[in-house]
Amino acid sequence: MVLNPVVYCESSAALVARYDAEPDKVSTYWSDEEVNPVRLEIKAHYIKEQQHLCCYCRLPDPSTHGLDWDVEHVVSKKRRPEFMFTQVNLGVACKECNGSKRDKETLVDPSAATYPSSSDAFLVVHPHFDEWSDHILRDDLTYASFTVKGKWTIEACRLNRFNERVIGLRFPLSDSRYEDQVRSLLADGSTLQEIANHIQLSVPTDTAEGSDHLAS
Ligand SMILES: [Zn+2]
Repeated sequence: MVLNPVVYCESSAALVARYDAEPDKVSTYWSDEEVNPVRLEIKAHYIKEQQHLCCYCRLPDPSTHGLDWDVEHVVSKKRRPEFMFTQVNLGVACKECNGSKRDKETLVDPSAATYPSSSDAFLVVHPHFDEWSDHILRDDLTYASFTVKGKWTIEACRLNRFNERVIGLRFPLSDSRYEDQVRSLLADGSTLQEIANHIQLSVPTDTAEGSDHLAS
């Protein structure tokens, strides 16, 4: 997925121009009532552009009301409010991916003065600069990475949350042995349930559900 950026309508472009000229930018401006139409324009554009697929987990949501989606700032608006309306910094993500990624640093160089224009400047699989499938393998609800970026994205967005639930884990699954096993099991033609059963058997008892250090 390499997205076509949103092209702002005249009134949105005027608001963005005023914001970009403002010397003291704050991320909370995003929630200002006057930004509502711009947020709606961004969301509508990227839901359509992404064909109702989350930019990180790539799971479909065919709903049209827009309430299931968050406008995604690839570089967090809290970290870099000057990129709040930068078209190539925007997309839509599902609530769970966005909630996991939150404000994590996604820039290789956090001090970059301007918005980078190349894939290698980002730690995350970037919806405008990367082909998702070059970095991440998905089979049903099981994810494995091809690249460092893919691995970063799987862990930051907690893409294996679905398998964590099937397995019964209550903490993020981030173990390279898991991905190695997933790859070999997928190559063998195993189903998600078979993979989950296999992984569950190989999760050490001190990290499985019921352990003292697990969150309730
Ligand atoms: Zn998602």
